[in-house]
Amino acid sequence: MSARRLLLLGPPGVGKGTQALRLARELSVPQISTGDMLRDAVARKSEVGKCAKNAMEQGELVADAIVIRVARERLTQDDACAGFILDGFPRTHEQARALDEMLGELGTPLERCVAITAEEGVLVERLLERAKTEGRSDDNEATIRNRMQVYHEETAPLASYYSEQGLLRDVDGTGSIEEVADRIQGALQ
Ligand code: ADP
Repeated sequence: MSARRLLLLGPPGVGKGTQALRLARELSVPQISTGDMLRDAVARKSEVGKCAKNAMEQGELVADAIVIRVARERLTQDDACAGFILDGFPRTHEQARALDEMLGELGTPLERCVAITAEEGVLVERLLERAKTEGRSDDNEATIRNRMQVYHEETAPLASYYSEQGLLRDVDGTGSIEEVADRIQGALQ
């Protein structure tokens, strides 16, 4: 039986969102993307959106307290009790500890963390390409470089956090969407 409470870890542009969506459909569990939820909050001009807007536009992280609240609200909804694919959360040690705490309270601990990897040059190319088609306001070169740096400083260290818990599997993120999906399947067995 495949793991169903999953976290996808990886730098911007590595394909977390695409793979998370595929996995969510395959396993019939929700994809939980804090990036999508925050973009939605910004579009609705909600309180969370107002707090998150500036940081997002600059490729900085939104404050832990806000993101943790958003994630908690989503993870405590009924559909997440059968499983979930976390995409883009946690991104800091503080968020990772908060996640462990909330999943501990819910009695549904994380089962696997899949770290998707690729060379930075490939990622920047992909993000610049995406900027042309999707028009995300944070997909410009300066912001992309900043998101990469923030990723290396704040988020990449989480790989050892999950490795220490025995949950980490590394997956090569280069090649076609199907190739990466197959590797992820392998990492979930
Ligand atoms: P990407 O992985 O391409 O950077 P996301 O959609 O995951 O894109 O995130 C977009 C932006 O939303 C981030 O640059 C950050 O400002 C904010 N964000 C998303 N998730 C988090 C998080 N867990 N903690 C802090 N900020 C976040």
